[in-house]
Amino acid sequence: LGNLLGLKESHEKREEDTTQHTTFENTPEDIESTRRSLPAFKVRSDLLTMIRDNQISIIIGETGSGKTTQLAQYLYEDGFCSGGRLIGITQPRRVAAMSVANRVALEMNVQLGEEVGYSIRFEDYTSPKTRLKFMTDGILLRETLLDPELEKYGCIIIDEAHERSLNTDIMIGILRNLLVKRRDLKLIVTSATMNAAKFSEFFGNAPQFTIPGRTYPVDIIYSKNLVNDYVEAAVTEAVKIHLSNKISSGDILIFMTGQEDIEVCMDLIKEKLTEVYSKKFGISKFEEISDLEIFPLYSALPPALQNKIFRKLDDSRRKIVIATNIAETSLTIDGIRYVVDCGYSKLKVYNPRIGLDSLAITPISRANANQRSGRAGRTSTGVAYRLYTEETLETEMYVSTIPELQRTSLQNTILLLKSLGVKDVLSFPLMDSPPLQTLLASLYDLWLINAIDNFGNLTSLGKLMSKFPLQPSLARILITASYNDCSEEMLTIVSMLSVPQVFQRPKQREKEADLARSKFFVPGSDHLTLLNVYSQWKQNKFSSQWCTKNFVQYRAMCKAHDIREQLVKIMGKNKVLLTSSGTDWTIVKKCICSGFAHQAAKLSGLGKYVHMKTGMDVQLHPTSTLFGLGDPPSYVVYNELLMTSKEYICCVTAVDPFWLVESGPLLYGIRRIDDDSSYHQSFALMQHKTGNDHAREKRQRDDIEREI
Ligand code: ADP
Ligand code: MG
Repeated sequence: LGNLLGLKESHEKREEDTTQHTTFENTPEDIESTRRSLPAFKVRSDLLTMIRDNQISIIIGETGSGKTTQLAQYLYEDGFCSGGRLIGITQPRRVAAMSVANRVALEMNVQLGEEVGYSIRFEDYTSPKTRLKFMTDGILLRETLLDPELEKYGCIIIDEAHERSLNTDIMIGILRNLLVKRRDLKLIVTSATMNAAKFSEFFGNAPQFTIPGRTYPVDIIYSKNLVNDYVEAAVTEAVKIHLSNKISSGDILIFMTGQEDIEVCMDLIKEKLTEVYSKKFGISKFEEISDLEIFPLYSALPPALQNKIFRKLDDSRRKIVIATNIAETSLTIDGIRYVVDCGYSKLKVYNPRIGLDSLAITPISRANANQRSGRAGRTSTGVAYRLYTEETLETEMYVSTIPELQRTSLQNTILLLKSLGVKDVLSFPLMDSPPLQTLLASLYDLWLINAIDNFGNLTSLGKLMSKFPLQPSLARILITASYNDCSEEMLTIVSMLSVPQVFQRPKQREKEADLARSKFFVPGSDHLTLLNVYSQWKQNKFSSQWCTKNFVQYRAMCKAHDIREQLVKIMGKNKVLLTSSGTDWTIVKKCICSGFAHQAAKLSGLGKYVHMKTGMDVQLHPTSTLFGLGDPPSYVVYNELLMTSKEYICCVTAVDPFWLVESGPLLYGIRRIDDDSSYHQSFALMQHKTGNDHAREKRQRDDIEREI
């Protein structure tokens, strides 16, 4: 891992160093004076006293006041870690964990991974020297599995608690129990201004401390009419701001929902500005424009690019940052004066009625809207352009975002709590309770994949699943594959599913890229297509040139490779054997079918499918190998459901309906029309069973040993 990452890093560094536009302001003196100018610094000794005097402290402060980057450093400087104890700081977002660890390492003038490190899923940048450990809340949760008392930590800082991420909420519950046992463990919960009182209450009225900070007034300008296309509206607004305000007046931050619309937005701004500048100054391409730089910011962005965003540009150039809600509270970019807020964000939502998790573009809450606008008023007065009407805000937006706990599936959480020995998950201490329906549906799903038994106890298979940092169904598919002689292949597929898009499609070279991509196609299967890409890359000695030539993202491939290595280790530790099917990919397909049997769809019309468990209409995502085929397969399983304007199924594999019946006997059955009907006809009636069927089936199967 080290080597791989090392290689990548130095490669990226080289790229970075050739960028001539950016000016550095990272001398130790500059860093020190920046640190001293933060609101937290003014109350440094009060903060330290409070933390010393209390086991639990709730610390509240405006975004950018220094909670994330400074608190742990103050404790460190104060000698808190002298006995070798660690301070663990959790973040709900991976990008934030990486980025702030980088920043803090720089501020402390140490090599990242030594005194200051970070750990996110599949990526560990810590060493025995590490004292300040930044990590995602999910990582700390996993650590409690190995070490329930969290012995190596002297202090845990649950940062960004107001986000109410699922893992944060669970971690907070675990800590409430643990703090009673470990009197020497300190807990700091930090929050932006919303929600703080609730945390204090949850911890028996723990003391609160507000970091005084000042913000400047922000003018809020609503859209007068309903906005049809927020990307287009954002582009128009940003271009207008750029052209009608002095460059030195400040930078622009645009909130979009995800990588896709960020990229479109970026391209459109470039296009529009090139048009304007070509009329004015006769330039012919965007690169000739010298008074502006545009940066995307989303979670899958390579770290080296993330760091660039923070650098100050000189006064003759304006920065436009187009970000997801990462920039709402997790990361603060100085110098923002104008905010453009599209009014939406991508949220994971679980619909217990249909029993599915999906990513959906959802209106933000009023609390989000205020946070977003607030980003314009950090250093002076600012303006926020909201791409929605005031009426929309008042009538259609929640006051605050619904906690993740109340809107996602709880399979992972239940599995984890059960592994931690929590017998009755319903009585686990939580700040808000999840909907009972979700809880029951998740328990049912876990039962369906044999993770828990009829009494709700963890099975040995369930225990094994919990060792993998994967969603339970993916962990199960790996374990099952091992018994079916194809875990080598499945490992690759699962690893490839764990990284962002591996195919590149650069502008102006779309045709070439599509052709290159189609060469990897394995008919009828996106999963096997991914396996094929990896296998060919391996045959080509993991070369980066090969990737470039074939329009494959080298970085994503390295990541997949690295994830694969880590999963191999976990498999080894837990005696899950590595087996291979050689060139017989039908075995692999069967295994995919059994693993994803609960996510199957049936052809219902030209290019249209219907979800077999829920009856919902779904469509193939255009990136699928199966998209646009003249003869689409009748039955498919998929990896992910994406809800945008339509419901798309992503990463799809065609399956034989027989396999579905075999692998999901609890879900599917065969109903015969008449005795001489062909198999085909009988399958035309194959259906998802009703709830009653399930109950009956469950009773019938009560004594059946269902473990693998
Ligand atoms: P809070 O957690 O209270 O929102 P932070 O500690 O994240 O505040 O931020 C404090 C300051 O550190 C901000 O001014 C921010 O711009 C700066 N900062 C954070 N990360 C970086 C980075 N990677 N590069 C430069 N400055 C950074
Ligand atoms: Mg912070």
